[in-house]
Amino acid sequence: MRLTLVVPCYNEIDVIARFHSAVSHELAATGESYEIIYVDDGSTDGTLDVLVEIATGDPSVRYLSFSRNFGKESAMLAGLRHAAGDAVILMDADLQHPPELIRRMLELRVRGFDQVIARRTRAGDPATRTMSARAYYWLINKWSDVELVDGVGDFRLISRRAVEALLELQEYNRFSKGLFAWIGFESIVFEYENVLREDGRSRWSFRKLFEYGLDGLLSFNNKPLRAAIYIGLMLSLIAVAYAIWVVVVAATQGVQMPGYATLIAAIAGLGGLQLVMLGVIGEYIGRIYFETKQRPHYLIKETNLTQTHVVPGSAAGRSL
Ligand code: UDP
Ligand code: MG
Repeated sequence: MRLTLVVPCYNEIDVIARFHSAVSHELAATGESYEIIYVDDGSTDGTLDVLVEIATGDPSVRYLSFSRNFGKESAMLAGLRHAAGDAVILMDADLQHPPELIRRMLELRVRGFDQVIARRTRAGDPATRTMSARAYYWLINKWSDVELVDGVGDFRLISRRAVEALLELQEYNRFSKGLFAWIGFESIVFEYENVLREDGRSRWSFRKLFEYGLDGLLSFNNKPLRAAIYIGLMLSLIAVAYAIWVVVVAATQGVQMPGYATLIAAIAGLGGLQLVMLGVIGEYIGRIYFETKQRPHYLIKETNLTQTHVVPGSAAGRSL
């Protein structure tokens, strides 16, 4: 079996050399043949120079460098497209994914699983983060059509046929967690102890996380649109009932001073609701807009890959 390790890197100059030696050590110990694909996602700190240096000293290293920062999703896609292995392992460069687990993944792969998924515990995470994550996963699993598991990220081994399946999904807005779940296949999840980021804080700000969460909710279903219909219907019914009540009161007791507060509250409340719903519709239209442009997910600036690679779904092979 041949193994490909795909590693997206964005400004990882401090850890990348250490990562490479740790991971090479592990891979060599498995006895399998392997290649490592580093995808430099437009780093600005000289990560690419280090990668070039690593590649000159190690024939199993391939690297790709994007023309700018396109995001981890695009970096992973590029790695998957160029992976030649019978199995691919996706791994972060920041040593938060313990290289020792590679061996464990290979063992489980031999037992026939198409996706071997490492699930981190939430030890060491701030309580607020843990709680919001729990609430989020409850919500998303209630709403969306794919099942997502808390603590499961991109760290996983994927068989060749599962990789091909992922590459068939050509959407521009890639929400990997959902895509991995969507393709199905036999999967197994095993747990590992959470590793804190060595050089300080995660690059995920609260806002980025929130937007990522929103992405997840919107990417895999159209239930928010349906919710708009239900809420609208419900409010219309309430409005009709209220109107009848007002007429009845006026007929039996004469017209009284109108309820100023009710009026303002209704206007503000309904106005807000309409804007939210409009926003939801806009979100979907925005997605359609980006999909129809058919822009590439990334642009490559530099690479040491030489072979022509057929991008599934496109008629012509794309050469680098
Ligand atoms: N990464 C990337 N592009 C980005 C952001 C991150 O390729 O725009 C890479 C990063 O180098 C790392 C992995 O994705 O290898 C995970 O990033 P990070 O550690 O910041 O995220 P977290 O571990 O907090 O999920
Ligand atoms: Mg990390």
